Amino acid sequence: MNLPRSLYGLTSERLVESLDLPEKRHGGQIINWLGKGATTFDEMTDLPLDERRRLADLVGAPVSSKATAREEDGSGTIKLGITLHDGRMVEAVLLVDRKGRHTACLSVQVGCAMGCTFCKTGTMGLIRNLASEEIIEQYVHLSKVATQPITHIVFMGMGEPLNNFDPTIRAIHYLNQKETFNIGLRRMTISTCGVVPGIDKLAELKLPIRLAVSLVSADDSLRTRLMPVNRRWPLDELKEALLSYQEAIPKRFTLEYCMLGGVNTTGESARQLELFTRGLDVVVNLIAWNPIDGLEFTTPSEEEQKTFSSLLNRYRVKHTLRISRGRAIGGACGQLATSHDL
Ligand code: SF4
Repeated sequence: MNLPRSLYGLTSERLVESLDLPEKRHGGQIINWLGKGATTFDEMTDLPLDERRRLADLVGAPVSSKATAREEDGSGTIKLGITLHDGRMVEAVLLVDRKGRHTACLSVQVGCAMGCTFCKTGTMGLIRNLASEEIIEQYVHLSKVATQPITHIVFMGMGEPLNNFDPTIRAIHYLNQKETFNIGLRRMTISTCGVVPGIDKLAELKLPIRLAVSLVSADDSLRTRLMPVNRRWPLDELKEALLSYQEAIPKRFTLEYCMLGGVNTTGESARQLELFTRGLDVVVNLIAWNPIDGLEFTTPSEEEQKTFSSLLNRYRVKHTLRISRGRAIGGACGQLATSHDL
């Protein structure tokens, strides 16, 4: 028998077949329990006791990973360290905003190959891609620690989602299913550093999910220095891909703009950003860089942030000045990297 490592991500038919379930309806019952976030067979109380025991002997648990570390700050942000079946670790973060909305920030890779110079995960290099069930299970572990239902998901944790395309999309579909977690596609956001073929592929799927593109600079030479991805797909190619994407999916998307003190917050940076956003229906999310040990950038002062925001106002660039949550526990944008903090 080809035993699955995790039951998350499997259809009812696949569960019946791979677990050799004695009754077809058990497949549906298991799916229901998985939709409630079950991590043990003991929780599946409407399955006969001997069947629960048989399944536990057969595969151990319905999940392949374990939450093995937890940190939280006073704002409700919780960062979990999740140990995978091979002993590798990823991080997943529960973010709670001012309105009390719970968002899961999920990782898609162990490490990341993209090497953005301001990002902690980028310092790890790519260790491996996550399977779809490993992405889904992060949501399950976060649900266990959330004080209310998680209604939104952002794929902004460790790794570049468009470099692990199929497992990420499979996880999205599973999390969206009514029988499982019923998270609306419009409440999920994929964040990319600008992998153009991935953006094209995503456009073909025409999924109504939200897109966020990490821009950081609208100046080619600066962006190449900060984000090696720009060497491969420079700004003009990125913009072309975004225009086509918006033609396929006429929906506003966001440009993430991580402000690095004294680097990308000048009047010229604002002017270039205005040029880049022309013709695109976007909102720019300004977020101040979070300090990371070993990286030599600085967090812009509040004054610097506000000045850049007013420059963008002058250029009529739609934007928001985002308050970073979770900074105290290293769970904010660009700060995730296992083996260091947990
Ligand atoms: S910012 Fe995103 S794409 Fe860039 S290195 Fe970090 S995880 Fe990878």
